Amino acid sequence: EASQANDIWKLYDPHRQDEAAWALSLMSRLDHAIDTQELWVAFQPKASAASGEIIGAEALVRWQHPTRGLISPDQFIPVAEEANRIDRLTEFVLDRAVEGAASITALGHSFSIAVNLSTQMLLRPDLSEMIDTILARHQFPHASLTLEITETGQLVSSPLKLAMMKKLSQRGIQVSIDDYGTGNATLEYLKLLPSNEVKIDRRFVFNIVNDQLDRILVESTIDVAHNLGRTVVAEGVESEAVRAALVGMGCDVIQGFLVGKPVDLETLKRRVGIGRGQ
Ligand code: C2E
Ligand code: CA
Ligand code: CA
Ligand code: CA
Repeated sequence: EASQANDIWKLYDPHRQDEAAWALSLMSRLDHAIDTQELWVAFQPKASAASGEIIGAEALVRWQHPTRGLISPDQFIPVAEEANRIDRLTEFVLDRAVEGAASITALGHSFSIAVNLSTQMLLRPDLSEMIDTILARHQFPHASLTLEITETGQLVSSPLKLAMMKKLSQRGIQVSIDDYGTGNATLEYLKLLPSNEVKIDRRFVFNIVNDQLDRILVESTIDVAHNLGRTVVAEGVESEAVRAALVGMGCDVIQGFLVGKPVDLETLKRRVGIGRGQ
């Protein structure tokens, strides 16, 4: 059979061997990376589309590897998921993200924080308690934490994952359907998932000024989401023209290089202060 032949070939594919060795070396270093802060959390600001005011941030994990340099989460998150090593990493990111956001609200700003959650984590029976503990540690309200979910397809087909999602939502945590409009997230999930927010994928957003089809898709998505009572976030907003178009369509929140790139906490804090005229 073709697929079997394919699998056998992979065993001898030197590139695959390299990948496997690379994955193994990353995972053997993961605990060390967390302990030594090779792993750190960057914050990308989110702004009100209409006013430009910074209202929160998304936490994005970074790995500053001593020999390989800065490794993208797209490279090590899937490896950690596959190796069942996502637990401690998630707990680390959540703790740093909430701690950072709490240090901003302590300055008197209202500020919410979004964290990407691997749906694998929803199988952890004590996830809700783990999050409660972190929020309590930093005295941060449930309603100011958003969990961004990408693999929504997997989620709705797993009763256990769906039940955990509902539990988190009932605790007051905000749920966002990430990469909305791509293969992973379609209309059906708006119906099936407890969610407060729809985050439109940047591949639809970046070209709305020039591409009529993208414009229609984004505008219709905003209308559907609003009619269902969801907040709409557009990601990948890189230009003022795109922001203006989104405001015209009623988009609530924007994120992207126009508002700011992912930065360390201190830089974000300065940004929040400046953004509010301090
Ligand atoms: P995502 O959740 O879709 O995050 C947005 C990605 O788009 C980020 O890449 C961000 O740096 C990038 N981006 C933001 N604004 C712009 C823009 O204006 N233009 C362009 N071209 N790109 C922009 P990043 O940081 O490399 O993260 C990649 C993905 O890794 C994330 O995609 C998310 O799915 C995943 N990820 C990151 N941190 C975590 C984490 O702590 N846990 C989990 N499970 N996944 C994470
Ligand atoms: Ca995200
Ligand atoms: Ca996204
Ligand atoms: Ca993504």
